[in-house]
Amino acid sequence: MSSNHGTVASALRSLEGAQEVARALRSSGFNPDKNEQKRLLAELAGSVSETKMELALLQTIIEEKDAELLRMNEAFVYRGNLRRRGDGYYKTLDGRPYGQPYCSYCWEKDSELFHLHNRILSRDVRVCPHCKNEYQAVRTPFLEADKVASI
Ligand SMILES: [Zn+2]
Repeated sequence: MSSNHGTVASALRSLEGAQEVARALRSSGFNPDKNEQKRLLAELAGSVSETKMELALLQTIIEEKDAELLRMNEAFVYRGNLRRRGDGYYKTLDGRPYGQPYCSYCWEKDSELFHLHNRILSRDVRVCPHCKNEYQAVRTPFLEADKVASI
């Protein structure tokens, strides 16, 4: 998508055609001949459909930004509750890490949380489904909450 589209400025620009039609109507004394009427109608329709497209693009961009805000907020909330242990990040209960580890690379780089998965046919290697980094399973264990609490 070009950066010239999907902005308020581009939506306004696409309305210039409609303003042009209004000017032409006025300058013809509101009585254009049949060919001019056809031309103006086509111009008006073009301007309207261009504006629709620009607004649809703008809507998409706003929705993307909303999703990004939600994600950032989630990351912000988690930031205080995550703790690194071994090579992974864990949610914490009373300050103690528990549960399945998250990919430390994705968290530190993009504040995104992805649970590590066991690699198929391997008990020793865990893999991040997003960045595909591999971790030693012994450095990224599953931590049971009740055991953590009793330590
Ligand atoms: Zn990752």
